[in-house]
Order: sequence, then structure tokens, then C-alpha cells
Amino acid sequence: MLGKDYEGQDCALARALEVVGERWTLLIVRDALYGVRRFNDFQAHLDIPKAILSGRLNGLVDDGIVDRLPDPDHRGRHLYHLTQAGKDLWPVIHSLLVWGDRYREGSCRVFQHAGCGTPLDDRGTCPHCKVAPGPDDILTKPLRRTSRDDPVARSLRRPHRMLDPVPEA
Ligand SMILES: [Zn+2]
Repeated sequence: MLGKDYEGQDCALARALEVVGERWTLLIVRDALYGVRRFNDFQAHLDIPKAILSGRLNGLVDDGIVDRLPDPDHRGRHLYHLTQAGKDLWPVIHSLLVWGDRYREGSCRVFQHAGCGTPLDDRGTCPHCKVAPGPDDILTKPLRRTSRDDPVARSLRRPHRMLDPVPEA
């Protein structure tokens, strides 16, 4: 089996890819940045097998990217919250979104500085305020209707402040 580490690579990029380089992991982090916190919501929005989602979330907990806390509304279930290290992946995800928009498929969302409403530029900076807001200061809106019709996708059709919890279905 192909390992997930790059033992022979003496580079911070290799260390970072050991954390987020597996298939699905960055999409899980993206959803967590959108405010998804429940296992069932990740599963419904990503359509991934439960065993894979469970494995990826366990890995993200072990690597300090998300914290797993008891869900006060559902005994025995958990909520997954991004740690600071997890929130600090926002610029990575934003850069990949910009790259994908330019070289692969047009973006389906816009990101605005919540403080002033100005769309972020390709570097994730608000051109009006000259700051690079963190995800808790960013509003995301759809640019077009997507084909997905799960509870998370429906909730994200409205303007949504990132990290605000996506309401339970
Ligand atoms: Zn601004």
C-alpha cells in the first residue's frame, strides 16, 4: 500500500502534504471552513463512504487540524471544529480555488470581506481595506446554482459567514 508520508523529503511542503495531501482531506477542511460540523452533514455534502470520512476526520484530529467535541444536541455524536492550525489552511484553499478557476473550471462561489462587502482578490486580500481577512471575517455567496441538493448545499445558497455553523437539516 502507498504510504502517506514522504520520509526521504526534507521539506516543509512534504510535512504539510502528509497532513492534507490525501484524497478528500482538503474538501473536508473546505466544508469545515464553510461551517460544517456534523459527520452526517460532511457525509451528505461530500458523498463519500462513511469509513473514508471517518478515517480522514480521525487523521485530522490526530494531526491537530480539527477538534472533536461532544454534540450537545445528540448524545453519542460529535461536532468537528477547526483548530487555529485548521483555520490557517484557508489561504491554501483559497489559492487552490483561484487556480482551479483559472485553469480548470469556473468557480461557483464568491468570497467577500464581511466588514465591507468587497470581493477578495486572487491573493485573498480585500482591495478596499488592504487586509487579508481570516475566514471568520469572510462572507461566501454562490455565483451560480450548483447541481448539489443536500442540506449543506441548500444552506450555502444564501450568503453565509464562514465558520458560522451550517444549520442542522
Ligand atoms: Zn474590506
